[in-house]
Amino acid sequence: MNFSDSEIVGSILHENAYEATGDIKEADLILVNTCSIRDNAEQRVRNRLSEMHSLKRKKPELMIGILGCMAERLKDKLLEEERHIDLIVGPDGYRSLPQLIEQAGNGQKAVNVLLSAEETYADINPVRLSGDGVTAFISIMRGCENFCAYCVVPYTRGRERSRNPETIVAEARDLFVKGYREVTLLGQNVNSYRWEDENGKLEFPGLLEEVARVNPLLRVRFATSHPKDLSDDLLEVMAGYNNICKAIHLPVQSGSTRMLKLMHRSYTQEWYLDRIRAIRRYLPDAAISTDVIAGFCTETEEDHAETLAVMREAGYSAAFMFKYSERPNTLAARKYPDDVPDEVKSRRLEEIISLQQELSLQSNRKDIGKTFEVLIEGVSKRSEEQLFGRTSQNKVAVFNRGSHKPGEYVQVKINACSAATLKGELTE
Ligand code: SAH
Ligand code: SF4
Repeated sequence: MNFSDSEIVGSILHENAYEATGDIKEADLILVNTCSIRDNAEQRVRNRLSEMHSLKRKKPELMIGILGCMAERLKDKLLEEERHIDLIVGPDGYRSLPQLIEQAGNGQKAVNVLLSAEETYADINPVRLSGDGVTAFISIMRGCENFCAYCVVPYTRGRERSRNPETIVAEARDLFVKGYREVTLLGQNVNSYRWEDENGKLEFPGLLEEVARVNPLLRVRFATSHPKDLSDDLLEVMAGYNNICKAIHLPVQSGSTRMLKLMHRSYTQEWYLDRIRAIRRYLPDAAISTDVIAGFCTETEEDHAETLAVMREAGYSAAFMFKYSERPNTLAARKYPDDVPDEVKSRRLEEIISLQQELSLQSNRKDIGKTFEVLIEGVSKRSEEQLFGRTSQNKVAVFNRGSHKPGEYVQVKINACSAATLKGELTE
């Protein structure tokens, strides 16, 4: 999400005659796009800011700006705490950056942390920062109104709003013409995408279908899906198009219904497992990945054991796993005690990580002997002789180079794997 926002910011600045530099020492302006999701994300930003402070001592005219969720969460408090900062701009204020930079250039601190109910940056064609020329993100909605008890996002990114579908499809078409072969539709909860105008209404399965129809050679992925809204309609659309990737990121957070209720996730363990079974029914070859939080308020060993059991039953191919980090002003911070001792959180997280290692390896081993269509993304980091790409299931595959190049589809037969990567040979 932040990456996609940085591309929007890049585009707004580019249109106003600013140029990016690859050398931080050359920069006249440094903008740091920030995340508040966990305390350690914020601490990393603080460390970067102190490095930038020393750059500014050597070059006093250098301007430093904070963008994104930390800007929104801390607002002008950041100006008191980090005196070398010149600009503070929240996620809905990027259009005002050129004016704010000018103001900061005149020696006045500049702040815009207004949240909007409408801003989707729909008309802005983002500059592409990933640089592989093959895969790109398209932001389809902004904000979140789910208010999960632990989560700061609804406070920092504001109300949920969907982007005009015509602009989404046009962006996908434009990317395809430029040689891109994969787009990922992004939102905090993509399956609650909803657009209504004089031409009628469109929900996420319909939008996904429209993007898939841009070209059969354009792969389409999406993230993130909230389990409460993962409908059979969506799975049916996914099954109907070869170029809609067979990978679903379905964050479970916890396997215990008691925890899920406390987290305000609005589903139970049974509901979640029913959705997993539905995925297996419609898309037998799909890979399912997840997010897990270890040690949320009042979590017992039994709750934790249920999380491990759900992980086993779902057979995740991959997971992002976190220790619960209390975020100021969230429902959990206001109402629940953060009472799981840190060493218990760490031990549970370790158990979750080591189970996931096992599950990832199991999932990859099942692919040995099978042949997959792989979209080539680049040259492998380990060897110039090897290329890497992804299968439809979002697994990284490494294989011999042949005469192929990024952006091409190839058939790869898998003959070995680790928990993180598939290894194979070109079949033609
Ligand atoms: N909208 C997405 C995820 C957004 S945040 C969803 O609901 O699935 C990405 C992940 O960060 C979450 O899925 C959750 O696992 C984790 N996360 C969010 N707040 C957290 C907190 N306070 N402590 C630890 N992990 C957190
Ligand atoms: Fe946060 Fe929940 Fe919204 Fe995801 S759905 S962004 S976890 S509040």
